[in-house]
Amino acid sequence: MRILITGGAGFIGSHLCDFLLARGHFVICMDNLCTGAIRNVEHLAGHDRFTFIKQDVTEYLFIGGDIDWILHFASPASPMDYLRLPIQTLKVGSLGTHKALGLAKEKGAGFLLASTSEVYGDPLVHPQSEEYWGNVSPIGPRGVYDEAKRFAEALTMAYHRSHGIDVRIARIFNTFGPHMRKDDGRAVPTFIQQALEGEDVTVFGDGQQTRSFCYIDDLVDGICRLMQAPVNGPVNLGNPEEMTVLEMAELIIGLAKSESAVVHRPLPVDDPRGRRPDITKARSILGWKPRTSVRVGIERTIDWFRTEVVPSSKEQSEETQSKSLRQ
Ligand code: NAD
Repeated sequence: MRILITGGAGFIGSHLCDFLLARGHFVICMDNLCTGAIRNVEHLAGHDRFTFIKQDVTEYLFIGGDIDWILHFASPASPMDYLRLPIQTLKVGSLGTHKALGLAKEKGAGFLLASTSEVYGDPLVHPQSEEYWGNVSPIGPRGVYDEAKRFAEALTMAYHRSHGIDVRIARIFNTFGPHMRKDDGRAVPTFIQQALEGEDVTVFGDGQQTRSFCYIDDLVDGICRLMQAPVNGPVNLGNPEEMTVLEMAELIIGLAKSESAVVHRPLPVDDPRGRRPDITKARSILGWKPRTSVRVGIERTIDWFRTEVVPSSKEQSEETQSKSLRQ
């Protein structure tokens, strides 16, 4: 198949590029690099089935030839990114989704939206199933992301109902793994970076808020199963194993064999207290559940940070130090 991945140079998108190329597909990666990194896909340069297009998906989209699937992953995704880029986040969820759906209509392609557990907001039911409509503040700072994704889901269903587009909606819960930016502000990369550098590990609030962390390989498997399943409504993809943010910090410090201490910082506005996916639908329709334990996933992610991220940041700081010594 020939598959367009918007946001393909981001954390999840770049893993999808690798996975789909490895299975013999043609991949077009479109990204404006606002939160992603070319480094995530540079190893694919010169691959005869891979194309990179640097473009903002909110602008006019033209791709020559047939396209079988559009995987719409473009969007700032970490709270730090979408609070820094609030209007771009609203635009990519609305105008970007509109452009991508328009292209799917023109090409007769399938369309998969990367939605999010954030559509449930600060949930009043626990765990969250796809039937729950959510508890979101449209005007709070996080509303830019949550409402953009809710609009994107509504538009996706409207294109399905009005134009018969074959759509999928993946409601993705917290996912982690290699290719995350060390400075994207999300708990796992932040804690790993801090632990490896021997800095204090900064936990928001008392750390008793819960999250469910899914390893990237399991998510990619879930996305690919979802493409193949005839289900147009939303499907939760995430790890039902729930843990507190403090437990995650302690796990990372232990596995990194770090001397770092946990310090607490004020809880951000509208930070959800709990998150756990009900994955009954994914289990029954896709035969999917996460297979990688959080512990193993964190070990692999620490290994990647140790070899790919921390040495370069050390080198940079040594370079800065030697420059300042020379001055
Ligand atoms: P990411 O920031 O690493 O990747 C997003 C990519 O989209 C980046 O490469 C960025 O440059 C690109 N992008 C943003 N706006 C764009 C635009 N207007 N035009 C073209 N490219 C644009 O984030 P991620 O964690 O890989 O998330 C990917 C998708 O999955 C997002 O849609 C996000 O909402 C969704 N999601 C992720 C998680 C998670 O835990 N990582 C959870 C729920 C949903």
